[in-house]
Amino acid sequence: MYGAIEAGGTKFICAYGKSPTDIHVSEAIPTTTPKETLRLVAEFFKAKKLKRVGIACFGPLEIAKGRISPFTPKLGWRGFKIQTEVEKALGCPAVLDTDVNGAALGEHLWGAAQKSRHFVYVTVGTGIGGGVMVNGQLVHGLLHPEIGHMRVRRFGGDEFPGNCPVHGDCLEGLAAGPAIAERWGMERAEQLPENHPAWPMAAHYLGQMAVNLTCAYSPEILILGGGISLRKGMINMVKQSAEQEMNGYAPLPKIVRARLGARAGVLGALALAQRQKM
Ligand SMILES: [Zn+2]
Repeated sequence: MYGAIEAGGTKFICAYGKSPTDIHVSEAIPTTTPKETLRLVAEFFKAKKLKRVGIACFGPLEIAKGRISPFTPKLGWRGFKIQTEVEKALGCPAVLDTDVNGAALGEHLWGAAQKSRHFVYVTVGTGIGGGVMVNGQLVHGLLHPEIGHMRVRRFGGDEFPGNCPVHGDCLEGLAAGPAIAERWGMERAEQLPENHPAWPMAAHYLGQMAVNLTCAYSPEILILGGGISLRKGMINMVKQSAEQEMNGYAPLPKIVRARLGARAGVLGALALAQRQKM
């Protein structure tokens, strides 16, 4: 049996089991201090014999050091050695990776990329993040890919300054849910009607992202998840925008919907535990 911890900025979700159809999932555990949060995590797993536990964690992460980056905006968690602390609390080995790398691996094992060893997974919701698999391995590198913070060209007439606290008008600052909402003066992007110009504009930015990812990694599949990508018609608009931007130069990957849905985080963590070190 494997353990799974989806470590999010506002809540932790835990699970144990063997596969997506044979899994017991916890109630949400609020993300408070590391000590209190891990106490509740350990309580959920109490007396379970786990072979390994996967941690799909918010970032940025220093994966090689098993810790959360000292620069994370989550103050109490800066530099927290989550991998060894979980190992101590649960008494079994732990595998640490980003939430989006976990979700990418989950899509590879059980979702939209079961037949591909070269693909990119991107979630577009309250933020934008992604995981990259090349030759069957998740890409880590110096830190890990930060797809949401790539730079894109402006959609004509878009004067919204962008709301990424670090870069302003990076991709996330222009096309994540909160950016769309702020640009159009809404509380939530989801409130905008289907035929609103907000959507082709967001698709324009995501189409550029698709082209950038294609130019950099030549993936076979681009999997899009998250509330913004999964809106009706969005994936088709992203495809059209990507085709325009690529202008026939290179083939584009298949652009498809993520399959793991709301359970992408916790299933990603389970995938990490099963696949061990990537
Ligand atoms: Zn940014």
